[in-house]
Amino acid sequence: MSILKELRNIINPEHILIDEELKNHTYTKLGGKADFFVTPSTVEEVQEIIRYANHTSVPFTLLGNGSNVIVKDGGIRGIVLSLKKFLGIRRDGEKVIAESGARIIDASRFALNEHLTGLEFACGIPGTVGGALYMNAGAYGGEVKDCLESALIVDSAGAVHRLSADAFNLAYRTSNIAEKGYIVLEATFSLEAGDFDEIKAVMDDLTYKRESKQPLEYPSCGSVFKRPPGYFAGKLIQDSELQGKGIGGAEVSTKHAGFIVNKNNATASDYISVIEMVQREVKAKFGVDLEREVRILGED
Ligand SMILES: Cc1cc2nc3c(=O)[nH]c(=O)nc-3n(C[C@H](O)[C@H](O)[C@H](O)COP(=O)(O)OP(=O)(O)OC[C@H]3O[C@@H](n4cnc5c(N)ncnc54)[C@H](O)[C@@H]3O)c2cc1C
Repeated sequence: MSILKELRNIINPEHILIDEELKNHTYTKLGGKADFFVTPSTVEEVQEIIRYANHTSVPFTLLGNGSNVIVKDGGIRGIVLSLKKFLGIRRDGEKVIAESGARIIDASRFALNEHLTGLEFACGIPGTVGGALYMNAGAYGGEVKDCLESALIVDSAGAVHRLSADAFNLAYRTSNIAEKGYIVLEATFSLEAGDFDEIKAVMDDLTYKRESKQPLEYPSCGSVFKRPPGYFAGKLIQDSELQGKGIGGAEVSTKHAGFIVNKNNATASDYISVIEMVQREVKAKFGVDLEREVRILGED
């Protein structure tokens, strides 16, 4: 049976898009098409899709908000799974429980409105809860690891488990989620009672810092590189005089050297070429290897 027919047996056909443009689902506004872009609405559908993909070896890629990935111009073969319909956020005592497709910004705002402190750091991170857990997203001294209590996941055999935070080996912008083949369905954050005005003041300050320093007016994937031990990636790039240098429509931001922006209808190939140029120049000038934080998916 064809992939489409099989998928139609698993989820509502209206939730399967064929040849979907992935530039509409990535923050860089780059990337070719997905053969099948599927948005299940129940956990059972997610389990069935995983079982089907594993059973048939149809390629399978999970996408959150696309804020930390670059999809190549040739797009992604097989199934691209999005949990954008899993948006619930609720409170249980001093915990906030958020479904994986909800934006972590919304979980942070929810905590504010519930007078709970601990998620302020996430108030400007444009990823989903699932993507934030995968990356151990963090900012301004806080990270997911600090407040994650547990998460509900689907494993590569399609079984659902609740795992405690230490099962994910969270460390600087990394986890073992890819290696284990987990799909995060829901995260439980352990927070503390706080004062609304104090929580809001912290969030306002972080938002001001972000808006004044980051080139949010252009599509990008945020900081492209991880912080190399003993250095700051942005400073190395700035001192290599790379700001404003570009290839095609992509260039190193003049506002924040750690960002590469899609300034003028860039292709993914332009963007990746700028990443490689930066890595080459910084290595030549300072002998430092810049490791990508952003993931590159798909084919040329
Ligand atoms: C302007 C801008 C500012 C940013 N600022 C920050 C910042 O301050 N701090 C920071 O850490 N990051 C920052 N980022 C990067 C990005 O927002 C985070 O890394 C975010 O956590 C990625 O989430 P996502 O949903 O967009 O994931 P995606 O980019 O869609 O995917 C990233 C990875 O997560 C995996 N994934 C997604 N959902 C799930 C799931 N449910 N289960 C398992 N795996 C999953 C994907 O398969 C992929 O491998 C910024 C990005 C932009 C564009």
